[in-house]
Amino acid sequence: MSKMTVLAARQPAAIGSQVLIQGWVRTRRDSKGGFSFIEINDGSCMANLQIIADADLENYESEITRLTAGCSISVSGEIKESGGKQATEILAAKVEIHGWADPDEYPLQKKRHSFEKLREWAHLRPRTNTFGAVARVRNRICKSIHDFYQDRGFLYVHTPIITASDCEGAGEMFRVSTLDPANAPRNDEGGIDYTQDFFDRPSFLTVSGQLEAEIYATALGNVYTFGPTFRAENSNTSRHLAEFWMVEPEMAFCDLDGNMDLAEAFLKQIFSDVLEDCAEDMAFFNQHIDDTVLETLQGIVKSEFTRLSYSEAVDILIASEQKFDHQVEWGCDLQSEHERYLTEQHFSGPVILYDYPCTIKPFYMRVNDDGKTVRAMDVLVPKVGEIIGGSQREERLDVLEDRMRQQDLDPAEYWWYTDLRKYGTVPHAGFGLGLERTVQFVTGMQNIRDVIPFPRTPGSAEF
Ligand code: ATP
Ligand code: MN
Repeated sequence: MSKMTVLAARQPAAIGSQVLIQGWVRTRRDSKGGFSFIEINDGSCMANLQIIADADLENYESEITRLTAGCSISVSGEIKESGGKQATEILAAKVEIHGWADPDEYPLQKKRHSFEKLREWAHLRPRTNTFGAVARVRNRICKSIHDFYQDRGFLYVHTPIITASDCEGAGEMFRVSTLDPANAPRNDEGGIDYTQDFFDRPSFLTVSGQLEAEIYATALGNVYTFGPTFRAENSNTSRHLAEFWMVEPEMAFCDLDGNMDLAEAFLKQIFSDVLEDCAEDMAFFNQHIDDTVLETLQGIVKSEFTRLSYSEAVDILIASEQKFDHQVEWGCDLQSEHERYLTEQHFSGPVILYDYPCTIKPFYMRVNDDGKTVRAMDVLVPKVGEIIGGSQREERLDVLEDRMRQQDLDPAEYWWYTDLRKYGTVPHAGFGLGLERTVQFVTGMQNIRDVIPFPRTPGSAEF
């Protein structure tokens, strides 16, 4: 008897096979004719498989009639054509119970729980329809990410998680140290002496793999890195996590237009893969979470992203005469309310903004001839806002060093980064896509804490 997933057992092709199905009971009810209907789910798809358990089974009275939501079972029997809504069902020859779930204690009974409540049960929430669907869609997106770059010949590089450089130059990093905080060695100025720390210098969890990806891109051409990223920003929003996953392609001999083309093709590939391979889960999100997600994704796959400069966007925002909490003027960082106006009201779709003021962007972005803007780009989408941030990198050594000094960074500390411009420098570009914001956008889930298995946010790191 071969093991089969619920997904496979639900296909008409399975009819007639003798199989073993293993999973967790969702519901059980008696039927008058002397048998029970049990719905079993094993996570392979959203839908359950119906089990017909006849009263003849030896453990029918003693065990099967006592099954409730959450119990784990193995069922062997034949897949039959079903007369009901589903195509198939299994006629049980044997039902073996592995673990009971006391209905008086098991929290996931029929009653619906809020997502807030389910966050307190992060160890049980993947057993719900919503979190099962999120996990499957997230998995499919990760496959798309690798497929997209591998198919284009990009090399997957692993950039370090522990780093001594601050890519954004913005602080907001988690320190990595083995010093005893209560008894740390001091230097002559009275500060903590990190030369005695594990790495002989201050070190942190990475906020981006970009700088290291540039090292590989300027040797091997097109590369990407995909891994966990950490930001100690104390922003309690529905779009920020302290630990999130980011995919960062970096391309040698590429300018900002090539970068925008790649970002657009990349997002469209992810969306069309999910629409094609996660149809059942996406139908669920469209029905229960956000009734616009299917239409939105289908529309995006077929249309062109709007591309406009930061300056043009500022003009539109000013001309809109909207009452924003933050007044817009040239030079300001755009807030989520502005991004949402552009993507939701004005353009009704994704927008790529480029050429931002140099004063609000990091040192590594290429300075435009106007001297005031840099070759930055952000991809904005309705509801979620910024999903991608990227740029063409500054490949000119003198300009790069000037920009570092302007931002109070010491070029000597980035000696290896400036070396890339000293020896065989090339125009190059790349971006970072936040995985969780992508899952949020695709599924319509409102809170980023519900699209990562174990969210880390200020004050919260249980499980
Ligand atoms: P934001 O302005 O929204 O805080 P950012 O400009 O700091 O984002 P980047 O440094 O450009 O973000 O990072 C690239 C991408 O990583 C973003 O476009 C977003 O998708 C994702 N990202 C950034 N910060 C977070 C976070 N704290 N939690 C989840 N995803 C994030
Ligand atoms: Mn950004």
